[in-house]
Amino acid sequence: MSSSGQVPPTKRKQTDTYKNWMKRNDGSLKSSGTAFIRKLVKTWREHQDKHHKINIYMNKLLHSIFFLGHIHKARLPPTAFFESQEVMYDLKRRFPQAFNNYKCPPHQTPFSILLDLAVRICRCEGEEERGIKTFLLSFLEALKLPPKIKGESNYTNYYTLEATVIAVCYNETPGALRPEKYYGASLSCRGEREKNIVINWSCLKVWHDYVSYAVLSFRHDEQGNGIRFPVSVKCRAFYRNHQTNCYEDRRPCKNCGDLFSLSNPETDRNDFPYGNCAETECLSKLIFNDQDVRSNMILGIYCTRETLKGLREKAGIALEHGLKA
Ligand SMILES: [Zn+2]
Repeated sequence: MSSSGQVPPTKRKQTDTYKNWMKRNDGSLKSSGTAFIRKLVKTWREHQDKHHKINIYMNKLLHSIFFLGHIHKARLPPTAFFESQEVMYDLKRRFPQAFNNYKCPPHQTPFSILLDLAVRICRCEGEEERGIKTFLLSFLEALKLPPKIKGESNYTNYYTLEATVIAVCYNETPGALRPEKYYGASLSCRGEREKNIVINWSCLKVWHDYVSYAVLSFRHDEQGNGIRFPVSVKCRAFYRNHQTNCYEDRRPCKNCGDLFSLSNPETDRNDFPYGNCAETECLSKLIFNDQDVRSNMILGIYCTRETLKGLREKAGIALEHGLKA
């Protein structure tokens, strides 16, 4: 009996298959992707009856992981992410699109789709934001990813599909009790080529014109031009503390200060390209969905249809090169 008077659950014995699996989990894309899909299948089975739309997220997630495998330097076909042939054939039968179209870039990286799924599952709950974080943290914990340690053999190839940062934003309108919140994740792909492909694709096909303009202007123009949100827009970001497995507040980085004039940004330049941040995704969703925000944006004189067209042409060329490389 424990101090609470309850009989503690008996600890499940770790099978040899499980132990072997843990040994192989070296933090590479192959093992991270396999662990991710494994946990995903479990989550899918648990929520299948309650959330009918979960199949849409499943399809998107598999497609996104397979695409990252496809553009990885050690090219990984979809079959590389499965330990069980049975599970693979079952998923192939249910989600043929993901298996057939994986060479075409997805609209989001895997963790961003997982975040959308978390929002979908937790939306009706009172403590939505907390529920979302709990969902993500328990998902990540189940992956049992090895730590990234400088000097260890996995350091250079460390690729876990986790987004380093997640962000939330909303328009605080007077009178509205609970403003609609929009969430975003930083890119959960690794490598310069991978990030460039996803950012260019997002600027062409996914993000709102205003966000695409800001990102592309900093990527391609000598002097980038940011956009500014009305003061009623609030944006917060969080990163996961790996020791405590908790999300902690994080200041906007310098890139976000440049792109979106977010207040109190860090002053040091970081190594990530413009467009990598979680804020980019959630702010784009906010602009798409909030007419009030859309009409009160401060865009600057250079943000015109023609300039954006020119910038998008450059992104298109860069994307083509990236995909061919
Ligand atoms: Zn940032």
